[in-house]
Amino acid sequence: MRITDVEAIVLRQPAVDERIADGSQDDLVIRISTDEGITGIGEVDSAPEAVRAIVHAPGSHAIAGSLRELLLGEDPTQVERLWDKLYRGLIYVGRRGIALHALSGIDIALWDIKGKAEGKPVSELLGGRRRDRVRAYASMLMPETEEEVTERVRALRAQGFTAVKLGWGPLGRDPDRDVELARAAKAAMDGGEVLIDAGLGYVADAKTAIRVARELERIGIFWLEEPFEPDEYEAYAELADAVDIRVAAGEQDTTRWGFRELLDRGHVDLVQPDVTRCGGITELLRIAELARERGAETVPHAWKSGIIKAASLHVNAVLPDALFQEYCVADTPIATKLTRERLPIDAEGYVAVPTGPGLGVELDEEVLARYRVD
Ligand code: MG
Repeated sequence: MRITDVEAIVLRQPAVDERIADGSQDDLVIRISTDEGITGIGEVDSAPEAVRAIVHAPGSHAIAGSLRELLLGEDPTQVERLWDKLYRGLIYVGRRGIALHALSGIDIALWDIKGKAEGKPVSELLGGRRRDRVRAYASMLMPETEEEVTERVRALRAQGFTAVKLGWGPLGRDPDRDVELARAAKAAMDGGEVLIDAGLGYVADAKTAIRVARELERIGIFWLEEPFEPDEYEAYAELADAVDIRVAAGEQDTTRWGFRELLDRGHVDLVQPDVTRCGGITELLRIAELARERGAETVPHAWKSGIIKAASLHVNAVLPDALFQEYCVADTPIATKLTRERLPIDAEGYVAVPTGPGLGVELDEEVLARYRVD
């Protein structure tokens, strides 16, 4: 089997609010075609137009190559070899940023092809699944008021979620308010877990974050995510060394080398590689193994369409110690309609790992056509 085409398709809903941290308002879908009629899909949660450019741009020289040209004619089932080829081929422009994001979407699409070619779900190709379903946490933006928090969290609890994460929005503006919003969420969750995502809110201010984290510990919050900007390793280490609550981070990071910095310098308790940015399924497994060696947990970040949900579920199915599946509850058309399979939660708040070949999800071509930007 040979690769015949690589497409980077930009999707965008008609009105995008650029002030909020909702990355499901637009999308970049990777579609790889083969001479045997099998196509694979992937997704990238990044700046869609920039990713499209780096996929489609012609090559310049040996280490500033073209992702598309490096793939044409290749055997798509040799996923790990192709990962190395693409990484080396774009090392001038890649390594950590947009090119790595693009590589991630390509890696997901290659696993999808390999699974379809063998008639097996991706999780089976990754050594066999250890679980058929994963506990979901509903992931939402933090509302502005305690009343809204109570109302939204109660509704998610009633839908069956046993864990919820509230992030970004007003968090970081006023530490005392942050604690009160978290307290309202914990009360509304009625025994369920609450995760708080500070959305870089304390920038590099370890003292403030330590004070907030100690309050969150008393309330019983499960983790404190991304209190600081991603390169502030010393602030991360100061916080993580001072408190018992799990300190989580890593959705901005890519590759095993990036996470090695975060773990060894930042001392975080839990890493959150995003499968559509960190280097794809291939690299996420390497990052999870690295984290395990350091005594840290891995919970993949996942906020976009059914494609990232499915790819993350296959990873979570094979991780020795999967804790949660992040479950984006944004009501944008891309989050809710892009794949035909909706991957709902069950009565106990778990989400099933897809069982079809490859990722086990297919694009709804009508939805793709409706939001496609050419
Ligand atoms: Mg986050």
